[in-house]
Amino acid sequence: MLPAFCKLAVCPHCGGKNEIFQLMSGNTCDAMLWSDMRQIAPMLPRVSPVQKCSFCGHYFYLREAKFENGNTYSSELGWLMFEEAVEAYSELYDTEISNLELLTMIVVWAFNDKIRHSEIEAEPEHLDLLREIIVKSLGQPIFIGNPLFRSEMYREIGEFDKCLAILNDYTPEDDFQAKIKDMMIAKAHNKESRVFLVE
Ligand SMILES: [Zn+2]
Repeated sequence: MLPAFCKLAVCPHCGGKNEIFQLMSGNTCDAMLWSDMRQIAPMLPRVSPVQKCSFCGHYFYLREAKFENGNTYSSELGWLMFEEAVEAYSELYDTEISNLELLTMIVVWAFNDKIRHSEIEAEPEHLDLLREIIVKSLGQPIFIGNPLFRSEMYREIGEFDKCLAILNDYTPEDDFQAKIKDMMIAKAHNKESRVFLVE
């Protein structure tokens, strides 16, 4: 993995210049794919598509930001803690540039980031918040989303019947998707809601 000088993402709220990690080259060796579709590749770190400004504390989409070139290295990826992801969801939800699928994914990933690498259980208040947000997002007609991701969200909040209904209607496009579908169906039948490693 070869890092490059960081980029500076200019906050659209306050103009603060946030350092963002930038890669010259990397690879997907030892990459892990989780059931919430989050791929974690140690040699190809990804930057969060939603960032919290370190100057004013507001949230912005990285793709909406203007960039300047930095002249230092930075390891800042900007992934949000669960509480921050929930804040970002409410702050960006009603804006014109709202991207509901992306915001929801950020919340789900942040929720799972706390538990995916350990045996610890999620905090009940966090699970309540997650449930509230998933139900709100999936209830919007504009929410389309990948069927595997939609079923996974229902599974993670314990709505196993809804998860299975989506999966039963879903035709995988290849063997890999079929494998994920089968794994999810097995988990849902066992009423297991925890995020799991696909490969
Ligand atoms: Zn700012």
